[in-house]
Amino acid sequence: MQNDVVIIGGAFAGLAAATYLARARRRVCVIDSGRPRNRFTEASHGFLGSDGSDPSSILAKARDQLVAYPGATLVSGEAVAARAVGDGFVVSLSSGAEISARKVILAFGLRDSLEPIPGLWERWGKTVLHCPYCHGFEFSDQPLGVLARTPMSMHQACLIAEWGPTTLFLNSVELEPEHAEMLASHGVAIERGKVTRLTGEGHGLSAVELEDGRKSQVSALYVAPQSSLASPIAAQLGATIDDGPMGPIIRTGGDKMTTVPGLYAAGDIARAPHSVSWAVADGVTAGTAVHRALVFG
Ligand SMILES: Cc1cc2nc3c(=O)[nH]c(=O)nc-3n(C[C@H](O)[C@H](O)[C@H](O)COP(=O)(O)OP(=O)(O)OC[C@H]3O[C@@H](n4cnc5c(N)ncnc54)[C@H](O)[C@@H]3O)c2cc1C
Repeated sequence: MQNDVVIIGGAFAGLAAATYLARARRRVCVIDSGRPRNRFTEASHGFLGSDGSDPSSILAKARDQLVAYPGATLVSGEAVAARAVGDGFVVSLSSGAEISARKVILAFGLRDSLEPIPGLWERWGKTVLHCPYCHGFEFSDQPLGVLARTPMSMHQACLIAEWGPTTLFLNSVELEPEHAEMLASHGVAIERGKVTRLTGEGHGLSAVELEDGRKSQVSALYVAPQSSLASPIAAQLGATIDDGPMGPIIRTGGDKMTTVPGLYAAGDIARAPHSVSWAVADGVTAGTAVHRALVFG
C-alpha cells in the first residue's frame, strides 16, 4: 500500500484527521476537490479562536500546517470510486490516478439543495441561512423569517425568535394545531401564502414576496436545506447509510468506523447536528481511532 490512510475530502473533518495522523508519523494522503459546504459564506462563526474568519482562510492555514509534516500529501482532485483490495482500499480519481491505503476516512461532506424560489439560492450563506448559532447574532433584533419545509421548521421558527421578531412562511406546508399553539407561545407570526420571490439589494434581503403581491419585511430568512452525500463512495463500499433529520447519515460507531471494517467517516456526513467545531472533533476522533487500528489491528 502507498499510504497508511487515504482521506477523501480535505476540509474541516478531513484536515483535522490528517493532522493527527501526520503527527503520529503516518503516511496520510488527503484528496480534496476544494468545495467545502460553507464556501458560500465569508464569515464562519463559533469556531474557537477563529470566530468570524473567512472559512477559506481557516482551511488554507490548516493545509499549510498539514503539509509541513513529512508524512502528509495533499492531492487536489476528485475521488470518483473506491474498492476494497486485500487488507486495504484503492481509490480512483477523475484524473485516472489510483491511490492505495490500508485505511480510508470519508470526509467528503454534504451538498445542499434549496427550494426553487427566485432570489433564494443567490443569497445562500449571506442572508438566506440554515443555522442561527452560526449566523444569528449578526441579525439580532432585526425582522427574521423562516421558510417552512418540514415539521421541524416549526421548531426552527421558535428558536429563531430568540434572535429577533420572527415570521414563519408556511409556503404550502400544513400547520398542525399543536404547532400553531407552540408558535403563538413564542410570539412567531404566521404567513400562509405561497412565497414567490425574495428581494433586496445585492446579497441583502429586504422582503419576502407572497403570491397575493404582499411583501413581508425580513433581513434574514432561515431555511432547512435538503442535504445529500457529496459522493457515492460510501454506498459503493457497502457502508450502511441511515436517514437523518436533515438527510443521509453514514452509520458509525463511537470511533467513527462505518459498518465496513477499515472504513471510517467523519464530519457532516456522519453526524447531526453540523458545525465546523463538530466536524473538526469528528476528524480528531477518526484520525486517532485509525492510528490505534493501525498499531493494534
Ligand atoms: C452556508 C453555510 C454556512 C455555514 N456557516 C457555519 C458557521 O458559521 N459556523 C460553523 O461552525 N459551521 C457553519 N456551517 C456548517 C459547516 O460548513 C459544516 O459543518 C462543515 O463544513 C463540515 O465540514 P466537513 O469537513 O464535514 O465537510 P465540508 O466542509 O463540506 O468539506 C468536504 C470536503 O470534501 C470535498 N469533497 C467532496 N467530494 C469529494 C470527492 N469525491 N473527492 C475529493 N474531495 C471531495 C469537498 O470539496 C470539500 O472540500 C455552515 C454551512 C453552510 C451550508
